[in-house]
Amino acid sequence: MSYTASIIGRGNLGLLKKLPWGKAVPDGNPPERPFSFAPAHRMANVAGHIAVALHRIGQALNILFRERSEALGLTSPQAQALLFLRYSRPDLHTLTGLAERLLCTPANANGVVDALERKGLLRREPARGVRGRKRLRLTRKGEVAADSLDSALTDLERWIRELPEEDQRALLHATEAIVRRFVQAGYVRVYEMCWSCGFFRPDAHPEDPRGPHHCAFADVPLPDPITYRECPDHVPAGGRPRA
Ligand code: SF4
Repeated sequence: MSYTASIIGRGNLGLLKKLPWGKAVPDGNPPERPFSFAPAHRMANVAGHIAVALHRIGQALNILFRERSEALGLTSPQAQALLFLRYSRPDLHTLTGLAERLLCTPANANGVVDALERKGLLRREPARGVRGRKRLRLTRKGEVAADSLDSALTDLERWIRELPEEDQRALLHATEAIVRRFVQAGYVRVYEMCWSCGFFRPDAHPEDPRGPHHCAFADVPLPDPITYRECPDHVPAGGRPRA
């Protein structure tokens, strides 16, 4: 039995003070500094365990998504661009909209679009109403490729569904709270659809030929199909607008 295993086997966290790494794990409390990757640190606290578990899930999903993308001859940003064009509001389908979604510069987004255009997965079209502006549109081949990327989350969703419903709800609540922190810190931007948005007014003007629903954020009517697309201005119903 190794030195570490023998200590853990005895269940004596106090002895971890003698280990060479980490500052200290005094009597089951986290160390003075957040050594989140140090095994000794997470042994003594639940939050440390969860942080590492989420890190591992993130790594696994990255690998999975890269594998799915490479099987289609795509890089990860190219695959993300296809999903963006497949599921987000059509008015966002510009170079600027894509750059915001990929959290990259317009020049980098342009490189992604060039590559997808060469592969016959999207095309640039003149945007209606704005001279010189281009709209990005998936080709049929691009739609098929985007659909096949969906399987990247299938296993994860199935494994989550196997958990008791109560655990699923607790997990949803907890992960949403963590995602909100990442949003506030500027590391992620959440795109969701109208039906869970606080700005959404369903059937506000059912006779309006421009759309029966209303967006109180942009003060515009919404046709039904658009309400099922992802939007970066979404705020959770009952929640507050994001900073
Ligand atoms: S802000 Fe909300 S209601 Fe308006 S388009 Fe976006 S998701 Fe829909």
